[in-house]
Order: sequence, then structure tokens, then C-alpha cells
Amino acid sequence: MKILVLNCGSSSIKYNLYEMPDKKLLTKGIVDKIGLNGAYIKNERNDGHTCKIEGEIVDHQAGLDYLLGILISKKHGSIEKIEDINAVGHRVVHGGEKFNGSILITKEMIAMMEECIELAPLHNPPNLEGIYAITALLPDIPQVGVFDTAFHHTMPQEHYLYAIPYSLYEKYKIRRYGFHGSSHRYVSERACEILKLKKDNLKIITCHLGNGASIAAIKNGRSIDTSMGMTPVEGLIMGTRCGDIDAGVLTYIMNREEIGIAATNTLINKHSGVVGISGISSDMRDIMEAAFNKNNKRAKLSLDMYIYRVKKYIGSYAAAMGGLDLLIFTGGIGENSDYIREEVTRDLEFLGLHFDADRNKALKAKDMIISRERSKVKVMVIQTNEELVIASDTYDVIEKRA
Ligand code: ADP
Repeated sequence: MKILVLNCGSSSIKYNLYEMPDKKLLTKGIVDKIGLNGAYIKNERNDGHTCKIEGEIVDHQAGLDYLLGILISKKHGSIEKIEDINAVGHRVVHGGEKFNGSILITKEMIAMMEECIELAPLHNPPNLEGIYAITALLPDIPQVGVFDTAFHHTMPQEHYLYAIPYSLYEKYKIRRYGFHGSSHRYVSERACEILKLKKDNLKIITCHLGNGASIAAIKNGRSIDTSMGMTPVEGLIMGTRCGDIDAGVLTYIMNREEIGIAATNTLINKHSGVVGISGISSDMRDIMEAAFNKNNKRAKLSLDMYIYRVKKYIGSYAAAMGGLDLLIFTGGIGENSDYIREEVTRDLEFLGLHFDADRNKALKAKDMIISRERSKVKVMVIQTNEELVIASDTYDVIEKRA
């Protein structure tokens, strides 16, 4: 079964075509700068053949139409005809309280997804654009929605509620939802597979450290807490987002700077985090370069703050679960920065965690253990693969339907 996985953003569509259940990636790429000057499609086939085609792409539907043409092209394609695609799986950022797992997309489901727009006004509309476009272009093909929030549906109410008037939860569904669910789920399951352990009686902490970052506490295979909240602003310090902050600070800034809701939103989402503290960049490689090769003090400060926040969460989640068996790093920073992994896990021997600095530095394989043999808490680096989760879930939903 061939499954096209789509991750539609406001001006881009990332795509992967999988052969399932073999989990074989046939081709992947991006439709970028949709609606802007310099739009293009970059396609990378699994035999290494790549192509970049430029041209006007006015909207998501035009971009997907273009993409389907490339997928069946004799020169650049990987399939003979469009009918070879059996299903399309969509990443959907916010599923609110309505979606606790992946679903077959129907008219009713689309209406329910539209109701979730108010919870994620920036992210969900482009996800829906992709669904509308495929419905228009390939009306007979089954589509599946896979939600970033779904994995965290198992959080108990005392973990997901904010201590604001309960009526606001009832009225607006204001609560913690969490994101990066496909990643937290994938890396925790992959680690169990590698270690040949059953997830049913394990206490796992997964650290997804990318441009966006979140951490999750997974007890007996179920997410019981996660750092992102109703929106992706809460929790860890990120490239451009502030993470946890005293809510009183926001009203104070709004008052002193005389700024409104939109500017405050931009401040906490785009100008805070690592870029806000360092004043240099949101990219961790730039921060490390500035901190260590240029002796930039604020870059080092932002790095220290970043590390401290992750460590603090690990401690609190270990306490929340009553212990820890497995700590996993993933995402661009988690997978690539031996420095951050070493600093985050420094002085955690009291938890039974014995880090192996040599293994960590020498890390070559994409999935590896980086704790010592005697360590009660295993520490691993696992390369995340959210697209594969979407392909697998799409396959399962379609198979069940058959
Ligand atoms: P996204 O959340 O957009 O998917 P990624 O998971 O790709 O982001 O992570 C991007 C982050 O990973 C950037 O901050 C980048 O600097 C960081 N990164 C990538 N490689 C390294 C590295 N070798 N050392 C430190 N940070 C790295």
C-alpha cells in the first residue's frame, strides 16, 4: 500500500511517500514558498535522484497538483499513475478534546477539525487546506488525520487542568493538550523495541529538543504529563518561544510597553527563548559557536538557561512518576548535540543515572544507548520519525476499514 504523508504549513507542504507495511520511503520533499515569490518543489527519490522545480504556486491545491505531477513523472517520479497512491495521511496539529487517536477523514470529521481551529489558529488552517485540496484533487482517495495532541490524551485531569476558574475550562476548553505526540510516542516505542522491553511497566521521559521543544512523562506506555500546554508556548525554553513564564509578567509587559494581544503573542512566540536571551539566533548551532568560539556571554547564558529548564523537568517528571527507567533524547538538538545531552544529565546519579560521556561523544548510530552498563536509568538517543508514525497510523486505519 502506498501512502502519501503530508505536513502542510502556512507556506509549505512537506511530503513523504511510503510503501507500507514495509516502511519503505519511496520519495520525500517539500513544496515551499507557496503564495510567495520563488516558489519551488524539491523532490528527493530514494535512489538519490533529486530535482528542484521552480514556478508560481498560488495555493496549497496548486502545490499538491504540481506535486502529484512530479510523483508520476517519468523522469523524477516514483509511481506510474496517481491511482497507485492508496491513501493520504495528514499531520494535524491540534485535535482538541475531540480526537484521541488517528481517524478516517469524513465530512463530519472535517467539521469537528474546523471547530478546533480556535485552539490553534496558526497551525490548523493550513493542515485543513491540505485536506480540502486532496479532497478536490483526489475525491475517492481515503484520507487519515493524525493529531499531534492525541498521544497526550491519557493525561489525568489533575495534570492537564490549569488552576484558573473551572468555568473557563468548561466554556473554552482551556487546558493542557501537549504537542509533538507522534514524536514522543515513536521514540518511546522504538527505544522499547531496541531494548526488548515491554512499555507496560516502564517510566520513560522523552525530550524532544528541536526548534520547538517539549518533554513528556510516559508511565506504562501512557503519556501522563507533557510540558507544552494549550499552545506550544509553554514548557521548555525554545528557539524563539519563552516556555514557562509567570503569567503576571505578561500583563506587566503589556501595561509597561503599552502593547496589545497580537504584539504580546509575537513577543512570546517569536522574539523570546534562546534568540531573546542571546540576541544572536534561535539556531542552537549558532548559539554554541558564539558561546564557545566567540566567548559571547549571553549566548552562553541562553544555553545554560536552556539546559537548566530541561533538567528541572526531568526531575519533576521523575518525581511525578515515582522513578525513572529510561531517558530519551530526540529532535535536531537532542539527536545532534552531545554537549547538551551531557550537561542535561550531569549530577543525576542520585536518580540512578550514570551517563557515559565517551559513548555520548562517539555516538555514531542514529539510535543508541549512552548510559553506562551499570546505570539503572538507561539513557538513549533515538532519531524521531513523525512521518513514519503518520504512515503507520494511516495504514492501520485503512486496514481496519477494509
Ligand atoms: P524542527 O523543530 O524545526 O523540526 P529540528 O528538530 O530539525 O527542528 O531541530 C533544529 C535545531 O537543531 C536547531 O536549533 C539546530 O541548530 C539544532 N541542531 C542541529 N544539529 C545540531 C548540532 N550538531 N549541535 C547542536 N544543535 C544542532
